[in-house]
Amino acid sequence: MQKLILSVCAIGLFVSIQSCKQNNTNDDDGLASFNKDSMLAHIKMLASDSFQGRRPFSLGETRTVDYLQNQFKQMGLEAGNGESYIQDVPLVEITPKADAVMKVQSAKGNFELKNLTDFVVSTQITDSLISLNNEEVIFAGYGVVAPEYNWNDYANIDVKGKIVLVLVNDPGFGVDTTIFKGKAMTYYGRWTYKYEEAARQGAKACFIIHNTEAASYPFNVVQNSWGSSNLYLASKDPSVKRLALQGWVSADAAKKLFAAAGKDTSLIVSANKNTFKAVDLGEKFSLNVKVKSVFNTSHNIIGKITGSKRPDEYIIYTAHWDHFGIGKKDEKGDSIYNGALDNASGTAGLLEMARAFKSLKEKPERTIIFLSVTAEEQGLLGSAYYAQHPIYPLAKTVANINMDGINPGEKTNDITIIGEDQNDLEGYLIEAAKKQNRYVSPEAHPEAGYYYRSDHFCFAKVGVPALDCESGIDVVGKGKDYGRKLDDDYTANRYHRPADEYNPAWTFEGGIQDLQLLFMVGKKIANESSWPKWKDGSEFKAIREKTK
Ligand SMILES: [Zn+2]
Repeated sequence: MQKLILSVCAIGLFVSIQSCKQNNTNDDDGLASFNKDSMLAHIKMLASDSFQGRRPFSLGETRTVDYLQNQFKQMGLEAGNGESYIQDVPLVEITPKADAVMKVQSAKGNFELKNLTDFVVSTQITDSLISLNNEEVIFAGYGVVAPEYNWNDYANIDVKGKIVLVLVNDPGFGVDTTIFKGKAMTYYGRWTYKYEEAARQGAKACFIIHNTEAASYPFNVVQNSWGSSNLYLASKDPSVKRLALQGWVSADAAKKLFAAAGKDTSLIVSANKNTFKAVDLGEKFSLNVKVKSVFNTSHNIIGKITGSKRPDEYIIYTAHWDHFGIGKKDEKGDSIYNGALDNASGTAGLLEMARAFKSLKEKPERTIIFLSVTAEEQGLLGSAYYAQHPIYPLAKTVANINMDGINPGEKTNDITIIGEDQNDLEGYLIEAAKKQNRYVSPEAHPEAGYYYRSDHFCFAKVGVPALDCESGIDVVGKGKDYGRKLDDDYTANRYHRPADEYNPAWTFEGGIQDLQLLFMVGKKIANESSWPKWKDGSEFKAIREKTK
């Protein structure tokens, strides 16, 4: 057996030398640097219990930052922030402690909703006590104001000082695919947008009605991530309006609320037409929330390889290092959210990417930056902070390539692009995929709005063309149904749960293929003088044109 493997390797080596000779473009230069063993070693370390789930401010952060900084130094990356590999990110950790129940007054009698079972709540305000005192509750449909779609859920109603209840996702979700972007979610569908808009309208609080399909994750994901404290950027810009309280109610609790208001699900259906008018439910909520705020500093880690010809033009690879830390126990009694795939794998991928670029005989012509960001799980905070306090000029930043979750399993015939038709980086991806005899697939769940859900979005928001991919689903020799099953199993059983743990059986055959692909994309852009652009119709095109 041993001999057979050796001879196969020898043939493999021979073939690759031959093909290098025939192919003077040297396209696979650097590709052989990626390997499974170093991916596994990084993940085993980063996702170990001693890293405590890598929550910002924890001992897990200290260990993660040390580890990454040492890795950057060891492979000979230059410091990315002057003399330092660290960018400080000032954050505030807010721990809300809500009453066990929220009191609801309605025409059909009073009742209570249970904290963490029926609703979750948090705040971005650092006052020590925040109360709802019988404020009126308004059902504001999807809570969307989108002039370009001729849509305004707040048109007929003043919600100042009131509580709004809204639906997640875009108007039309699951009912009418002819409005908004059909099945694909726009930014108007994201929960972050719902709160931003309710705050702009002057509402005191906003609760989003949970729906597993529309949110694209079950209520326990919300319970796990909202049950404890949350982090926010510590900037105290008074021009930014903030809600006193923001939260979610479960689908069952929403049913109760509608029933007590004498309404049924037809009210929800009616919110999918632009003739919908917000409705006063005739209900009032009361709740006290005690708030503890701690200001603290987390850290982005940044290293670079200075370009040989155009050192003042930058390509930024990103991967978030953080996860949820220690939290609510799962059914097995495990409370450490190790985040092996999310995102120790992407962090390992970032290290592998840096090593591959370092291995090149000829340095890339543009500068390549490797940025490991904090607090993605808390609302893309590390990348948002970098985008608001860029170390390198955004106008000179050519592209961002993000890695959030690397395929630990088999090779795929495809690679999934997140947010189709956004910018020219998609063309680079298609070209590189062809060299691997692969094709680019549209995302399986465009309704989940993944383009707005990881760190590349913060670059997009400030106009930098950004690329985000996911492993393909067309598994070699097994097909799409098999791939989809793997995907669904991860979402249902491990995503944002303590069970997202290191598995020594992972082969990373597919992940290495994906990393090589993203390496080829970055290397090509690094060695040319062109500037990838946003496509017509992208909501980020105008922002880029202003900065250039
Ligand atoms: Zn992630």
